[in-house]
Amino acid sequence: MQAAPFLKDLVLVGGGHAHVHVLKSFGMKPMPGVRLTLIGRDIETPYSGMIPGFVAGHYSFDECHIDLARLAAWTGARLIHAEAIGLDRANRQVLLKDRPPVSYDLLSIDVGAAPNLDAIPGAAEHATPVKPIAELGRRWLAFVERMKDRHAPLRVGVIGGGAGGVELVLAIDHRLREIAPTAKIDVTLVTRGEILAGNAASAQKAMRTILARRGIRLVENKSTTGIGGGALHLNGSEQLEADEIFIVTEASASSWFSTTGLPLDSRGFFAVDDALRSTGDETVYAVGDCATVLAHPRPKAGVFAVRQGPPLSENLRRALLGQEPKPFTPQRRYLSIIGTGDGRALATRGGWSVKGAWVWRWKDHIDRKWMRMYREPPARPMDMNARAAPPDPALADADARRLLADIGMRCGGCGAKVGAGVLTRVLARLGPSPGLDVAIGLDAPDDAAMIEVPAGQALVQSVDFFRTFIDDPFVFGEVAAVHALGDVWAMGARPHSALALAVVPAAAERLMEEDLFQMLSGARRVLDHAGSALIGGHSGEGPEAALGFSVNGLVDPARALRKGGLKPGDKLVLTKPLGTGVIFAAAMRGRARGTWIAAALASMRQPSSAAAEALVAAGAHACTDVTGFGLAGHLAEMIRATGRGDEVSVDLHLDALPALDGAVDLFARGFASSLQPENLRARHLIDGMDIHASHPKLPLLFDPQTAGGLLAAVPADRVSRIDGIVIGEVQPRVEGRSFIRLM
Ligand SMILES: Cc1cc2nc3c(=O)[nH]c(=O)nc-3n(C[C@H](O)[C@H](O)[C@H](O)COP(=O)(O)OP(=O)(O)OC[C@H]3O[C@@H](n4cnc5c(N)ncnc54)[C@H](O)[C@@H]3O)c2cc1C
Repeated sequence: MQAAPFLKDLVLVGGGHAHVHVLKSFGMKPMPGVRLTLIGRDIETPYSGMIPGFVAGHYSFDECHIDLARLAAWTGARLIHAEAIGLDRANRQVLLKDRPPVSYDLLSIDVGAAPNLDAIPGAAEHATPVKPIAELGRRWLAFVERMKDRHAPLRVGVIGGGAGGVELVLAIDHRLREIAPTAKIDVTLVTRGEILAGNAASAQKAMRTILARRGIRLVENKSTTGIGGGALHLNGSEQLEADEIFIVTEASASSWFSTTGLPLDSRGFFAVDDALRSTGDETVYAVGDCATVLAHPRPKAGVFAVRQGPPLSENLRRALLGQEPKPFTPQRRYLSIIGTGDGRALATRGGWSVKGAWVWRWKDHIDRKWMRMYREPPARPMDMNARAAPPDPALADADARRLLADIGMRCGGCGAKVGAGVLTRVLARLGPSPGLDVAIGLDAPDDAAMIEVPAGQALVQSVDFFRTFIDDPFVFGEVAAVHALGDVWAMGARPHSALALAVVPAAAERLMEEDLFQMLSGARRVLDHAGSALIGGHSGEGPEAALGFSVNGLVDPARALRKGGLKPGDKLVLTKPLGTGVIFAAAMRGRARGTWIAAALASMRQPSSAAAEALVAAGAHACTDVTGFGLAGHLAEMIRATGRGDEVSVDLHLDALPALDGAVDLFARGFASSLQPENLRARHLIDGMDIHASHPKLPLLFDPQTAGGLLAAVPADRVSRIDGIVIGEVQPRVEGRSFIRLM
């Protein structure tokens, strides 16, 4: 069933605790006509309450992280994996690092806060900050690996005596004693004031007793003035030697907040009213640690961000419909449970505190229950009927009302062209291609582009087109361009120019313009980098986004790389890992990890220009790009194209095949691309399928690739010049042997 056309853009920046609730809520109860986008710096967002338990070794990395890619896919939201660095409020855009801005009608910010490293000289160079927590998680795992079975003494300093710092120091102490039982371990907690300031005196007292019993040194009422030379420098010229230092000082606001022009509180956090809306812009909401509710200031704690999820969700829905948001009063007292790393915990609320193993079990139950809601949403995602229902008329402005009125009766002629105004504006925003080397292109539009081919050069041409398989139009544009240029690079040609064929789903004109702009911006980034001018194209409306290119390249015909030309003794090199087919097959079913998808996309976005240049320079004998037929299919084409097709065969080393993270795992779990069965037909060209039937990498041979790497035959003495993996050797063909022999 087709979803209703999008009329408004709701953009969430940051996958913090409140936003995961908004995602879930929109997944359970979609708002037809609203396009929901999550912009997140980290694909896996940590649940802070469980991080000390992860450090202590009670939870795995997965147990305390929410996979935002999966949650967004389940919700039907777009995930844009990028870091916000500012807002252009006049144009209602979120500014992103290393890519074009994303437009919004309504914006919500939940990006958290982090210790201010600049406040302590030397901290940035010599200490590990607790936030971003995702980064702490990765660093901690590496640290644990290094410390395993260590015998030498180890001194650890933790700066910051709030609940987070106290919980972390206890967790670190517990874990280190477990993994390095013979090492002498000295752990110190340094804090500017008293520990657990603001909590009940009984809780402070209980915690001092716990720290003393555990042998953790506590230094209260001392500021850290610097870090360096293997020591913490404290005020009063005291020094504290430390091999490892962790910083859990109070949360500070990101510097970009002040560039937005939005009202801030005295510490630089977004000032919001009791409806969680910026006090200076009714199209912007902000929650969690990054915001301060002026009417109800509360400590920066995850519990408040969690509680803001439901009212935020409701108010965003109301705001989209033009209704007044509802005020929300957060609770004044809250339960704080601090794990002590050893399977016990201390709970405090108001003036009382309790401790013991049962308190840890209680905390563990609460935290796991919360995580289950977002890590394991119900199997049946959103109600598709609800998504396809007509949008609420209150959502539509004049432009959107026009769209709703004529949707279904839109002109199908001219390939259902996107309006000329949209295209003109998009092309103007993109600007001219740099170094345009064409006789007639977009700079002087005519009925067709004109290319003059320099003497001694030949024009190579290829065309590719496919539907989107990801929801980020910019990245899709990049991948589509890399995929199309693959054929030009494989010929050893220099990309020259390209014509685009772009399809965007029908939506309000602003949203279509944005989609087209994002797709073509991604494509232009790749084309510009490759030295290829965008010289024209055609854009149309369709049920889903799709993009393709007709690409042109120039090459000296005598130096062109061909598919055929394999020579016995050549090494076979592959320049990118395999597995894009299976990863996106699983992603469509919501079963691929977000980090696998991100790594696959990073590989697909990677142009092959440097690889192609290196292959030409190394005198490669043959080359092709690995795409839809999979490695085996494309390799068979190379062998067929060599001589009369019966001159060479290839010994292929299955163990050597480079695989994207997750690909082998997904094959083992039964996932495969829908094109895999077709590609498997090449198996009759392969010797050793039976012997290697259970080899975990065997299915990689038949996995269709999008924007795959170059596969080349390179003289053995020059193969080290290529940045790729040697996966086999070319052999003289022996009577009775198939094209490929598995080793
Ligand atoms: C060790 C430790 C233990 C803690 N334990 C507890 C506890 O038990 N209970 C409790 O209530 N509080 C606890 N806290 C406090 C808690 O971490 C924070 O209050 C809570 O994480 C705030 O949630 P949030 O939604 O505001 O942001 P966060 O949880 O910090 O989430 C922010 C999200 O935004 C993303 N992001 C950040 N910047 C950008 C950007 N520029 N662009 C795009 N995305 C971005 C991040 O990737 C992340 O997904 C603890 C803190 C620490 C350090």
